[in-house]
Amino acid sequence: MAFLIDGKKISAQIKDEVKETAAKLKQKGVEPALAVIQVGADPASSVYVRNKKKACEYTGIRSVSYELPEETTEAELLDLIARLNADTSVHGILVQLPVPDQINEKKVIEAISPEKDVDGFHPMSVGALVTGEDGFMPCTPAGIIQLLKRSNIDIDGRRCVVVGRSNIVGKPMAILLLRENGTVTICHSHTKDLKEICKEADILVAAIGKPKFFNHEYIKEGAAIIDVGIHRLGGKKLCGDVDRDDVMDIAGAITPVPGGVGPMTVAMLMVNCVEAAQKQTGVKAAE
Ligand code: NDP
Repeated sequence: MAFLIDGKKISAQIKDEVKETAAKLKQKGVEPALAVIQVGADPASSVYVRNKKKACEYTGIRSVSYELPEETTEAELLDLIARLNADTSVHGILVQLPVPDQINEKKVIEAISPEKDVDGFHPMSVGALVTGEDGFMPCTPAGIIQLLKRSNIDIDGRRCVVVGRSNIVGKPMAILLLRENGTVTICHSHTKDLKEICKEADILVAAIGKPKFFNHEYIKEGAAIIDVGIHRLGGKKLCGDVDRDDVMDIAGAITPVPGGVGPMTVAMLMVNCVEAAQKQTGVKAAE
């Protein structure tokens, strides 16, 4: 029977660590602050924004909220980002994606100063990730690395298969596993023999956005399964990309949905915020 990797518990530990760091920084005169910008009122985005603000409140990070109307122009949003880039009391800037059609998402991502890019989406952050330099890591894949490490699941030298190659999950996930010395294969919708490749994985990351796609035929005995997908089935019930009931007897460990990867994304955003505050002010909580 697979061991359930408790993302709720691990994310709570991480948020408590952040809380301690933020308190130490405050004692030294630095109040970490995150600007959260939402354009329009997409219900899913509103839930994500609310969770991020709640996490800020819990950890002692000041959140500055900008709720802009749906018809906000690209120039208006870029102007706000420029003002926040210049504001030394704000250390992180987050624009909740997606943005409405009249706004070019790429321009928005590139407008955020890399020093304040706590989502880790700026090309400078992506470059740093690939070359192994210092930079902000995208929150979902960084959270998955923490889930594995804090559950004592070895990455070094093991076969890792990432299914999905998006810029926010699949690609950075593969790079982070590589940085941890995993032997990494990336699969996508053109991959042939997907089942056979997945069956070789000691660590399988499922991030394709298809409910219950991965069943026991894709799983190696004892493998660690990271289920990134999140889907709302009939009613309120959530499920992932993995058919959990079908793989439980084969897998060695698995992240549940909900309560696995999801809570980690917000926790890692908080980590990036206190890191941003320390880098920008030169004040270190630990010294
Ligand atoms: P995208 O839709 O951007 O990417 C999906 C990827 O899966 C693509 O690379 C696509 O391949 C690949 N894919 C789709 N179908 C198949 C298939 N049948 N076989 C193999 N590969 C396939 O999704 P995201 O990466 O943004 O998100 C993936 C899932 O993770 C979603 O369910 C999303 O809701 C969830 N998510 C959860 C987060 C969390 O915090 N828990 C955070 C972010 C996302 P190709 O490139 O060839 O089209």
